[in-house]
Amino acid sequence: MSEEKSLNFIEEIIEEDLQSGKYTSILTRFPPEPNGYLHIGHAKSICLNFGLTQKYKGATNLRFDDTNPITEETEYVDSIKEDIHWLGFSWSNEYYSSDYFDQLYSFAVKLINKGLAYVDDSTSEKIAAEKGTPTEPGKENEFRNRSIEENLRLFREMKEGKYKDGEKVLRAKIDMAHINMLMRDPIMYRIKHAHHHRTGDKWCIYPLYDFAHGQSDSIEHITHSICTLEFVPHRALYDWFIDKLEIFPSRQYEFARLNMTYTVMSKRKLLTLVNEGYVAGWDDPRMPTISGFRRKGYTPSSIRTFCEKIGVAKRDNLIDISLLEFCIREELNQTANRVMAVLNPLKLIIDNYDENKTEELTTENLPNDPENTRTITFSKDLWIEKEDFMETPVKKWFRLAPGQMVRLKSAYIIKCESFKKDDNGEVTEIHATYLPESKSHHDTSHLKVKGTIHWLNARDAATAEVRLYERLFKVENPAAEEGDFKEYINPDSLKVIKNAFIEPHLQHAETGAHFQFIRNGYFCIDKDSTPGKLIFNRTVTLKEGFKAL
Ligand code: ATP
Ligand code: MG
Repeated sequence: MSEEKSLNFIEEIIEEDLQSGKYTSILTRFPPEPNGYLHIGHAKSICLNFGLTQKYKGATNLRFDDTNPITEETEYVDSIKEDIHWLGFSWSNEYYSSDYFDQLYSFAVKLINKGLAYVDDSTSEKIAAEKGTPTEPGKENEFRNRSIEENLRLFREMKEGKYKDGEKVLRAKIDMAHINMLMRDPIMYRIKHAHHHRTGDKWCIYPLYDFAHGQSDSIEHITHSICTLEFVPHRALYDWFIDKLEIFPSRQYEFARLNMTYTVMSKRKLLTLVNEGYVAGWDDPRMPTISGFRRKGYTPSSIRTFCEKIGVAKRDNLIDISLLEFCIREELNQTANRVMAVLNPLKLIIDNYDENKTEELTTENLPNDPENTRTITFSKDLWIEKEDFMETPVKKWFRLAPGQMVRLKSAYIIKCESFKKDDNGEVTEIHATYLPESKSHHDTSHLKVKGTIHWLNARDAATAEVRLYERLFKVENPAAEEGDFKEYINPDSLKVIKNAFIEPHLQHAETGAHFQFIRNGYFCIDKDSTPGKLIFNRTVTLKEGFKAL
């Protein structure tokens, strides 16, 4: 029996619109401002917008919302496209709000001609002061009743560059006493003598979000324009412009933005982390960016699964980052080949093993798949984890300790005979004996040992750098804390192990390849790796809340 998932509220609206014949197909858009890299919150919006049109056989446009000439860069445009593709989605058309500057200009002229827009010479301070408060109406000023002819001339002169930044604005003439403050004659255009990444120096007036966004939706015939809850109060204005301009009636729907624990999600804050060197770049594996997660070893499907699981809410909430970690862990548990890596090495010498012998052993790549195996080598000189030896063992210690036995994974049972320490009292070397008859898959020893540990042949192990990541912030919701969010950065979010040991064949694995380092977590090969120097990123620990042993 197939499990029927209940519809989210946007799907309900769409199904109604399709059934009633209001639309025969739907069109959504994903409208990033190219002023930063995409983060996991954007992934939520991408999965929603593209997911809906996959489900209902419509189409989704990618529209760069590039109406602000100051902050936008081509690097961001490229990274945004790469990230959407990587997540597994394709857009029908690639558009730029700046492509519509001419059209938007004539829309503005149309409103002036209808007596619904005017040029205001006031300073921004005066405009703000006249706006009123939520409980007091605003004030109509002396520019509000300029004639249509004068407004047309002034607006044209604004466009022609006759005025300096801030000298004039174009405002919609709505209602200075409106209960919704955004409807009190909102600004449509401001003067900004700035170079734009696409239109160059053609324009010195730029439309504001509220005048650009809905009109761009309408120009493209977007049926369902989905945005986050902060835009609820903007909806009245969105509808007003469309109504007065008598253009295609796109409609806006709002859902809760994704917030996640132990991170920040605003591009402005993420840019600060990059610019001030708290992280190594937008794709630093500690960043909540799509490129950061990719580099850390997350897969597109794990992120899509996460977005599916959190659903589409109508009220803001804070999602636990461990849910995202759960999604990647579950996936890698099914797919990542198991290998052995020793992160904190301690020498282990098998005293009774032939000095000149190297043995080939078989070990499985995935659990429950006995056919899928590889060969590893065994010799007298091995590496094990420091944490797997205890000089004075605690109760229920099943790993190595003086006189105690343990199984070396896919190899033999060994018994610890002695150990050496350096002048600081640090254990530097373990000596053990092995039981030849205890070889894995051929064990005739009848011995039952409780612990199995991983190991590497010190004679052929390769070295690698391993980067262990912890949460970027010390508190659950840094944006909600008092003071500067940077005060809450976790100073120990990155631990670098310069000389870990890995199985030699890993040297030939590709960037991005995923592995489970047995007992140590899931790891992938970082793009900074070079043929002589492999670098692994820890994608996620094996268990939730897992701390190093
Ligand atoms: P930020 O505040 O991080 O800069 P933004 O909303 O200004 O985000 P845009 O590039 O304008 O970023 O966003 C593109 C789309 O992604 C918008 O439709 C926006 O609603 C959506 N979006 C942005 N952040 C989130 C989030 N945290 N959760 C869900 N959707 C989001
Ligand atoms: Mg924005």
